[in-house]
Amino acid sequence: MPEVTAEHVKYFAERCRYWQREFGLTNWRLYVDQRGDESDLAWADGNDTALIFTVIISTEWNEPVTLEALNATAFHEIAHILLRPLVEFAEAHNSARDIECVEHAIIHRLSMAALGNA
Ligand SMILES: [Zn+2]
Repeated sequence: MPEVTAEHVKYFAERCRYWQREFGLTNWRLYVDQRGDESDLAWADGNDTALIFTVIISTEWNEPVTLEALNATAFHEIAHILLRPLVEFAEAHNSARDIECVEHAIIHRLSMAALGNA
């Protein structure tokens, strides 16, 4: 499996901060970390009260680790911050799984528009 190096993590963190600025989400404190995972390229978790958002990138990917893929993954994770108010609202009325499907459909559309891939 392709390894995600320290250089990759550095570039990924730069792209996360870039998309955080582009989306105007600078009121959030953003942390980027690396951890092993079997399935996901990266994942994210947030604390809405403290406005802290942590993005974790996996140590290994099941696809080639390219700059384009790192940027697209950073875009994807930061889009989760963008959509957090909507998700919080929807969770009061729907199942988390239904919301996640709709959320990913929106992120893929944003990614197609901004990057030409999803
Ligand atoms: Zn996602």
